[in-house]
Amino acid sequence: MCHAPDAAAMRIDVLTLFPEMFQSVLGASILKRAAEPVTDPATGRVRPPVVRYVLSDIRDYSTDRHQKVDRPPYGGGPGMVMQCQPVWDAVKAVEAEQPELAPTRILMTPQGRRLDQALVQQLAEKPRLLIIAGHYEGIDQRVIDRLQPMEEISIGDYVLTGGELPAMVLIDAVVRLQPGVLGHEDSSQDESFSQSLEGGLDYPHYTRPAVWEGMSVPEVLLSGNHAEIEAWRREQARRRTGERRPDLLPPEG
Ligand code: SAM
Repeated sequence: MCHAPDAAAMRIDVLTLFPEMFQSVLGASILKRAAEPVTDPATGRVRPPVVRYVLSDIRDYSTDRHQKVDRPPYGGGPGMVMQCQPVWDAVKAVEAEQPELAPTRILMTPQGRRLDQALVQQLAEKPRLLIIAGHYEGIDQRVIDRLQPMEEISIGDYVLTGGELPAMVLIDAVVRLQPGVLGHEDSSQDESFSQSLEGGLDYPHYTRPAVWEGMSVPEVLLSGNHAEIEAWRREQARRRTGERRPDLLPPEG
């Protein structure tokens, strides 16, 4: 999954106890193509990889004889806590692989800032992300403190068993914003939360056939009048946002 480094490609390091969980997601569809050179059939021009995924197994950095990475919590209680040493050594080793490219460190945690499109956009502009996926009860607080500054990011107010799925969610959202990744350069423009929709929700979409089960596509979409179609879509997007997510409507004034 790792290709020869390309100077312009964004580097995404993931530190995890379960690197195998990433294979199917990063190895398919758009996320896979983003990490490969792609030839434009029309021009024959080759687009170099726009991203480079580097997966590291935190367990490989454990100095324990049995490669243990977790221990029971001080103070008692259920579960296990990931130890400082393997996490710290993994971060230091991975960062040293390309020291001239300082990463934005990210810890996936339900206690972090809630991920939204504005944060995704900020992260999409960074040259390198280093994402740490926790597991079990979480990670010893001392290594979290020592690794600051670090973005602590949550994908929502619920608790998953590990940070791997949250890391994949973040990677997907960030990679699809890299120039040249989506088929049509504009296809991340008119989407929910985008600036072109004033941060609101997307309008409804329709495709062939024009009538399905007695239900017709809205007339205006068949009119060929681009200005009217555009106005209809904006209106639909605003209406939907008002109905479903009024909190996203731009302030009146
Ligand atoms: N004890 C922690 C708490 O209550 O805040 C939860 C630990 S959770 C079982 C194990 C790991 O899953 C976390 O360290 C984190 O990496 C990841 N995780 C779980 N839910 C998440 C979420 N909503 N967003 C981001 N990461 C999450």
